[in-house]
Amino acid sequence: MGLLSELAADAEPKGPCVSGRWFDSLPDADRADALAWLADGRAKSALLRVARNHGYTASSSMFYAHTVGNCICPRKD
Ligand SMILES: [Zn+2]
Repeated sequence: MGLLSELAADAEPKGPCVSGRWFDSLPDADRADALAWLADGRAKSALLRVARNHGYTASSSMFYAHTVGNCICPRKD
C-alpha cells in the first residue's frame, strides 16, 4: 500500500473512541449531566471516578484525551 492511500485510510472516520462509546452508552439524562459537568470546567478526575463506577474500563489517558477532543471521535462543530 502506498503511503498516500495508507494515510487516506487512516484519516477515514472510524466512529467514536472507547470513551466516546462510553458516553454514547449512557442514558440521555446521565450523558447530559456528564457533558454539562465538563462544559462547566469541573474536575475531570471526579467524572472519571464516576465513569469507572458506571462501566468505563479503559485508561484514564483515553478518557482525558476524549474530553479535550484529542481522539478519533467524529467532531460535531
Ligand atoms: Zn473520543
